[in-house]
Amino acid sequence: MKKKLSIETLAVHGTYKKDETGATNPAIYLSNAYQFKDCTHGANLFDLSEAGYIYSRLNNPTTNVLEETVAALEGGIAALACASGQFAEFMTIATLAKCGDNIVTSNLLYGGTHTLFANQLARFGIEIRFADPKNIDEFDKLIDDKTKAIYIESIANPQGFVPNFKKFAELSEKHKVPLVVDNTCATPYLVRPIKYGAHIVIHSATKFLGGHGAVLGGIVIDSGKFDWEASGRFPELTTPDESYHGLVFTKHFGAAAFAAKMRVSAMRDIGGTISPFNAFMIQQGIGTLHVRMERHVENAKKLAKFLENHKNVAWVDYNGLKDNKNHKNADKYLTLGGGSLLTFGVKGGFEKSKEFIEKVTIALHVSNLGDIKTIVTHPASTTHRQLSEKELEATGISTDLIRVSVGIENIDDIIKDFDKALGD
Ligand SMILES: *Cc1c(COP(=O)(O)O)cnc(C)c1O
Repeated sequence: MKKKLSIETLAVHGTYKKDETGATNPAIYLSNAYQFKDCTHGANLFDLSEAGYIYSRLNNPTTNVLEETVAALEGGIAALACASGQFAEFMTIATLAKCGDNIVTSNLLYGGTHTLFANQLARFGIEIRFADPKNIDEFDKLIDDKTKAIYIESIANPQGFVPNFKKFAELSEKHKVPLVVDNTCATPYLVRPIKYGAHIVIHSATKFLGGHGAVLGGIVIDSGKFDWEASGRFPELTTPDESYHGLVFTKHFGAAAFAAKMRVSAMRDIGGTISPFNAFMIQQGIGTLHVRMERHVENAKKLAKFLENHKNVAWVDYNGLKDNKNHKNADKYLTLGGGSLLTFGVKGGFEKSKEFIEKVTIALHVSNLGDIKTIVTHPASTTHRQLSEKELEATGISTDLIRVSVGIENIDDIIKDFDKALGD
């Protein structure tokens, strides 16, 4: 029933139903384990023939409220919260793929995702094939019978690229391979990827969902729309699971087979559970998601225009600007026609960009995004300092590039701060 509510009302109220105390917020259940009613009850829970709580690595009532809320916001049927966004990615891939399989993904990815894929997963024997997301044929050519997912970001960070979701959905359908979308930078308020054909959606809840920059968290949402049996690529979901006495996930859990498998298999065995306290904090953040996103984007548009007209700014790249190379898809798929991340270069290159970063006083110089506070980063002197100038160019990051995650302050104050730091 809650799914029919508008996204704003859903964000404010979530799926939380008041308990007998009448408390308006979910309780924080700091309990590792849950009492079995009797031995039969315990056995049924372990056999998955009855739903309920066993141990907080698997399930927690506070965390469940967050999972149901985000699933509803994204238009999915179930979700699994994790300790971080990185872990949400790992849970997804660990459930879909094994040694010898491959994932076809974009070469425009968040840096942490890139290293997880290119370094860690490669060590587990899962091959990650990178392709240009502007060219769907490149993806098409890399898909074979060992491909277990097509993986993209709704707004690539820091490039601002927005994919043509329609083409990716068609490709996914053609090969019967699930489409996985990291929706961290857009949030369901700007785009709901499931509506455009995504099967699995991932968030670093650390960023906009929480918004306060206080806790880490991640979440994976199952759309319930992928036909695992018709795909034929996922015997772990469609044939008997020996660790559950021969249970077949697609038969037992129906449309929610993937979410169930991820929880009772990958999460049970690997761990990486979110703290109920962090889940509560993220739930609190979500209550203002829609209002924050509106201000984030409004501010980003104003800041981009200001930077465009500044004599000490060499270039501005923001997908919410009409003449931007990413604007067509941003306008088509993002409800507000742009995101809240932008990049720009200071005239004078590396040194001048570094100087700018050191001169701003309101904007934070930290390695994060999606906070209510404006954040500036200079990849060439920080996160990407190991890379040569040539390597930087190859990743689309010039030595003068500054990334801004535009916050929700009064934008005039941020503009003044930037203006002063840019010098006259
Ligand atoms: C930050 C981020 C992640 C990783 O999330 P953590 O919560 O930091 O582990 C993944 N994807 C994107 C797009 C991000 O911005």
